[in-house]
Amino acid sequence: MALTGIQIFKLLPKTNCKECGVPTCLAFAMNLAAGKAELSACPYISDEARAQLAEASAPPIRPITMGEGENKLTVGGETVLFRHEKTFVNKTGIGVLITDAMAEADVASRIKQFTSLKYEWIGLILRAEMIAIKNVSGDAGKFEALARRVMAETDAIPVLMSDNVDAMKAALAVCASRLPLIYAATAQNFEAMAALAKEFKCPLVAKADDLNSLSELTDKIVAADVKDIVVDGGARTVKRVFEDMVFLRRAALTQKNRSLGFSPIVFTGEITSDPLKETIVAAMLIAKYAGIVILSDFQGESLFPLLVERLNIYTDPQRPMMMKEGIYPIGNPTEDSPVTITTNFALTYFIVSGEIEASRVPTWLLVMETEGLSVLTAWAAGKFVGDAMGIFIKKCGILDKIKHRKIIIPGYVASVSGDLEEELGPDWEVKIGPREAAHLSAFLKLEIAG
Ligand code: SF4
Repeated sequence: MALTGIQIFKLLPKTNCKECGVPTCLAFAMNLAAGKAELSACPYISDEARAQLAEASAPPIRPITMGEGENKLTVGGETVLFRHEKTFVNKTGIGVLITDAMAEADVASRIKQFTSLKYEWIGLILRAEMIAIKNVSGDAGKFEALARRVMAETDAIPVLMSDNVDAMKAALAVCASRLPLIYAATAQNFEAMAALAKEFKCPLVAKADDLNSLSELTDKIVAADVKDIVVDGGARTVKRVFEDMVFLRRAALTQKNRSLGFSPIVFTGEITSDPLKETIVAAMLIAKYAGIVILSDFQGESLFPLLVERLNIYTDPQRPMMMKEGIYPIGNPTEDSPVTITTNFALTYFIVSGEIEASRVPTWLLVMETEGLSVLTAWAAGKFVGDAMGIFIKKCGILDKIKHRKIIIPGYVASVSGDLEEELGPDWEVKIGPREAAHLSAFLKLEIAG
């Protein structure tokens, strides 16, 4: 049973050392009880107290990790109902469905889409992570062969879907290294499916017709010593799926209901057969609160908006998206190409780099660490000022790439040019660029025209 804040406080060191990021042990205890802090944030808890607190501090929605290598996915682990309260932490997994009764062309097309639809966006790779493999034929051999093909041709995390325990076991033997998701344990077969989950150390979907039955089923599966569970509450209409998603999240977070504290999986193709509606339903469920969304198919125009939506929802609203500090060559610049500088706020970078690309003037763009602040905000915070910029320009390595000594700074920070020149020394010329990135293209063209 969950402990209260006061009960947790009694187990803490009570030194108020602040290393956990809050002023007192009592505040930390209250945060822990509310699921707003991690036990690991306090380095001084005794092993004995840690063991006692583990249950109380366990995330209300159990985090489950699947996959291997670069394509690993963790779902669950959420601690808030609304993103603005803190942040959502583990993005919704997105996948596509293939079956062993599909025509070869349909399977090939989905596998091709899965492997090719990857997008670089703000330094991240946006992509789908999962392929659900459904045993529709009833033929264990076909199911296993399809699982083997997915393993050979993709790095997808498999969701293995079969009622047949023997077929599931054969497919698991093929896919086990990727920690596939087993779909599904029901009231009728949960003992056999739980045994497979234990044998292959894979997470298991608990599937029931409604949330009451689901709660009973997860208790039985946990009692069978399988704790890595994903849930399917059985709803297949937009209204009921939406209601269930909200109910599950509230039950886990506000009622501390451990029986429903698991991430839900949804098959949008079972809710609608219209591809456009399916994308809209998926978008809604990514926002509220699906752990995994399996689409019946996807194309670039349907997948990309879902990936961007997911990125936005699962980005910490308290931390701006940042670029890595460094030198970004745009358009194969040479030792004579212009050099310009901006901050590491991702949006600033993308606007500035986009304008440079549009100018077709090969340019070195220096991106300076300013804790993700934009140009004016970073300047106001004392992070994008002359001496700091000068130190960065000298140490970043650009001196080895150019033979001139000219730097273009954003027009909004023209006032730092004196300090920058002083820091860089007399060999350097500091040029004041335009205030707005929209005018950078024309500025660079004039610059190279001499
Ligand atoms: S780190 Fe631990 S001991 Fe220090 S204030 Fe936080 S809870 Fe207390």
